Amino acid sequence: MSLLIQCPLCGNRNGYEFRYGGEDKGPYPDDRELGSADWYDYVHGSACTEGVVKEWWCHRLGCGTWFTIYRDTRINRQVQEPQESARQGTGQASGAGKIQ
Ligand SMILES: [Zn+2]
Repeated sequence: MSLLIQCPLCGNRNGYEFRYGGEDKGPYPDDRELGSADWYDYVHGSACTEGVVKEWWCHRLGCGTWFTIYRDTRINRQVQEPQESARQGTGQASGAGKIQ
């Protein structure tokens, strides 16, 4: 089964309607702190995390909105925001709920 993504404006839609925008890496770092190699890693690098990851998606065949979701890479499903313990580096998605 394909990925089901909940667009904030359109609701649940087939994942084929969306464009993946990469991991959410937070705000851009300060230019003065990074060299060109570090910028390359920031823009093109990926942690390839196993578990819940915050990602950017665009509803390209729908409303065109860019938004972030949490996706569990182990089951390829959108999940609710992970619990505080999961965000602190346990790598566990316990407490995360599936969106159906
Ligand atoms: Zn949409």
